[in-house]
Amino acid sequence: MANPSLLILPGDGIGPEVMTEVRKIIGWFDSRRGIAFDVSEGLVGGAAYDAHGTPLTDETMERAQAADAVLLGAVGGPKYDVLDFSVKPERGLLRLRKEMDLFANLRPAQCFDALADFSSLKPEVVAGLDIMIVRELTGGVYFGEPRGIFTEGNERVGINTQRYSESEIARVARAAFELARKRGNKLCSMEKANVMESGVLWREVVQKIGDEEYPDVALSHMYADNGAMQLVRWPKQFDVIVTDNLFGDILSDCAAMLTGSLGMLPSASLGAPMANGRPKALYEPVHGSAPDIAGQGKANPIACVLSFAMALRYSFDLGDEATRLESAVQSVLADGVRTPDLIPTGQPGTPVTTAQMGDAIVAALEASL
Ligand code: NAD
Repeated sequence: MANPSLLILPGDGIGPEVMTEVRKIIGWFDSRRGIAFDVSEGLVGGAAYDAHGTPLTDETMERAQAADAVLLGAVGGPKYDVLDFSVKPERGLLRLRKEMDLFANLRPAQCFDALADFSSLKPEVVAGLDIMIVRELTGGVYFGEPRGIFTEGNERVGINTQRYSESEIARVARAAFELARKRGNKLCSMEKANVMESGVLWREVVQKIGDEEYPDVALSHMYADNGAMQLVRWPKQFDVIVTDNLFGDILSDCAAMLTGSLGMLPSASLGAPMANGRPKALYEPVHGSAPDIAGQGKANPIACVLSFAMALRYSFDLGDEATRLESAVQSVLADGVRTPDLIPTGQPGTPVTTAQMGDAIVAALEASL
């Protein structure tokens, strides 16, 4: 049987630097665990624009559609700020998300014990935190019609429309229930059914799917404003949270900061199941191309490494190996290995380079055998 395929799109700035470390880890899984991927590489963002005059060629788009999973570094940089909107690096990423129809955005917020002091919240509130926010990504108020700025009488009005169909709610709800089953079997759905009809429908559809298809998953509902409050009050009460595009945008950023550095945050965007039953999937760190530190060996590769761990778990059914990789990261951090972003300003500490962090993770993987 052919190896599962993984398309790597390193992108711009620190993207290629962090991806080099992930490739070391992929190499380790191949040589030491006998887990081989059919890895290919492509260009996206500014790198693709420089080579082809477009941030994503049709050929790369086709390869992304055909791959079992896509792993992306980051796109963008000041060099491209002057470009027309239609060819800006970010358009490459947006095209991938749109054409792969990635409707479920998974943003884990996991606090590694060694970094609990990094959070703006008290260490005991965040230590051991491990929650997952599933944000609907292709519908809702960012896309609903009518939208625009219109003139009414002698003033202008800005209009956006929150719109969700039952099928849009159902597919993201199922993605969240499936995830909950792979984790702690607990799902909290957030909307504002108290003031929004789209929220009423959201709650009804999620409840129906829970009753009929996932009776084993403990489902609860919460108004999104209360959800924001609960996230900073006692985030460990949650396991998986599912919510719409707008609330998810805000709640996932809020949850992300519970855990400290941007250099630690992975993400996944999932679409409909492919012929092999696995969802279309794009994995990427939450951070951007960090032009301020690019090319200096200062980038933290962990967000990209953990994105690959998500790919192992959600695209390749290798949950145990994903846990092995996450534990390796945990042990490296516990040993005090820190890239510069993980050393608070003014505190002592000798930072390691991007490559040294990658090597340390590989060494921890080796020690796990
Ligand atoms: P950014 O995430 O690139 O950087 C914000 C800050 O965090 C910077 O100080 C940076 O040095 C630091 N940082 C980010 N990732 C880090 C890492 N792995 N290790 C250590 N430090 C890290 O956001 P920005 O500065 O607003 O944007 C820079 C460029 O990236 C822009 O062109 C923007 O459009 C693009 N961008 C791309 C994505 C993406 O590819 N998904 C996301 C956000 C921004």
